[in-house]
Amino acid sequence: MSIQKDLALLERLCLTPGVPGREHRVRDLILAEIKGMFDSVSVDPMGSIIAIKKANPAKKVKGAEPKRVMLAAHMDQIGFLVSHVAKEGWVSLFPVGGFDTRNLFARTVTLCPDPNDAKKDLVGVLNPGGKPVHIASPEDRKKIPEVKEFIVDLGLPAEEVQKKVKIGDMVVLNAPVSYIGDHMVSQAMDNRVACWIAIEAVRKLKHHDCEVHCVFTVQEEVGLRGAIASAYTVKPHIGIGIDVTLAIDTPGTPAAEACSKLGEGAAITVADGASIGHFDLVEAFDALAQKHKIKAQRSILTAGGTDTAGLQRSTGGCQAITLSCPTRYIHTVTEMIHQGDIKACRDLLAAYLEDVK
Ligand SMILES: [Zn+2]
Repeated sequence: MSIQKDLALLERLCLTPGVPGREHRVRDLILAEIKGMFDSVSVDPMGSIIAIKKANPAKKVKGAEPKRVMLAAHMDQIGFLVSHVAKEGWVSLFPVGGFDTRNLFARTVTLCPDPNDAKKDLVGVLNPGGKPVHIASPEDRKKIPEVKEFIVDLGLPAEEVQKKVKIGDMVVLNAPVSYIGDHMVSQAMDNRVACWIAIEAVRKLKHHDCEVHCVFTVQEEVGLRGAIASAYTVKPHIGIGIDVTLAIDTPGTPAAEACSKLGEGAAITVADGASIGHFDLVEAFDALAQKHKIKAQRSILTAGGTDTAGLQRSTGGCQAITLSCPTRYIHTVTEMIHQGDIKACRDLLAAYLEDVK
């Protein structure tokens, strides 16, 4: 299969807006894509998709309960909700997810008055209020504004903005998907890349003895909220969070702090700021990567966490690990992954699901 065709789904996932609490369009896209792939598909009260693929009947041991393996791939991307519409038509924002405001200057954005209807979307320009650089004081030029100082300019008469925009509307940054060398770049690799990995790994399965609960979670970027709720439904024996991890293999950071490297394969997360990967799972993923000659690397993320932390601590606890896709420039509009790495993640996940007894 050509690379472009293989990644066409990832491209569509990346170009579909969905911030915490407004995952409607991504959810619809995933529901359409996974039609027929699972034994049951449901959407839980918070909005996460729970898709179950039963153990392969040919291998099922009579009377024994199959292991429930929960995959968690969050559907949401960082973005904003409208927090205020000024009478002059300026739109203010409430961040949902951690932005570095240095990346927010001079952007175009899409404001979605209806999360279910792309036809109502509006395009705007995002910039901080205040004076432009030509006439700013030296002190002002050094200041890094907070999100609350940014405004969206919709280029419309104030009355029209008042009519069309309300507090709570979703706003996302605009950025294309680009193929650069062996890499792929998008603002939403975090975490559409995991949605792709989960779907494609399940699509690859031939024989598996476990019951796969593939959960596309909501509201990860504001604190793993959907994953925690879904874990109480699934009650997993094993939890696998799938997410991006930092690849700081770029100038300015010592190799010891790189966390992961692009092109070196799937990242088996030994630990991050919120969870320690279960020792047996780390060993199992490592051994499977070697057995099947899948490129993989171990990594430790010193701060930050993933849905794994939510799974691990729910319903009496479960064995959990994060399978990560190395990504440069996370939480900017140029999140960059290596095409070989996401395929390594897909292959390693599929190999693990086929291996669980
Ligand atoms: Zn993420």
